[in-house]
Amino acid sequence: MSDCIFCKIVAGQIPAKKLYEDDDVVAFHDINPAAPVHFLVIPKLHIPSMLEVQPEHASVMGKVMTVASQLAREQGLNDGFRTIINAGRVGRQEVYHLHVHVLGGPDVLPAMLKH
Ligand code: AMP
Ligand code: ZN
Repeated sequence: MSDCIFCKIVAGQIPAKKLYEDDDVVAFHDINPAAPVHFLVIPKLHIPSMLEVQPEHASVMGKVMTVASQLAREQGLNDGFRTIINAGRVGRQEVYHLHVHVLGGPDVLPAMLKH
């Protein structure tokens, strides 16, 4: 996807503060952090959102979640953290390359969504 900002990060065409990279997954700090620790874990494969996840993505999605857990521990989030995956218009997704937010810090995070 030539016009996808996260594909450009995967390709090294725009800079990112990378925390982790392997053949399938990249993780980097969010450019506009919403918590003291806020990073994103993405598949290198361009999956636009959770709406497009298919059975053949099970392996890479498993890797994304495994890396999220490992990096959370490495970032010191041993007392807990939050993972968020926004999807589509209703989910207020802004970047249409699937990503898992990992958010945490010393303090308890704000409450979850309320009606
Ligand atoms: P979402 O609403 O789930 O699509 O969130 C997209 C996230 O990507 C936001 O938290 C942005 O701050 C973050 N973001 C956008 N561009 C970049 C970038 N170049 N490097 C790191 N994070 C980014
Ligand atoms: Zn992409």
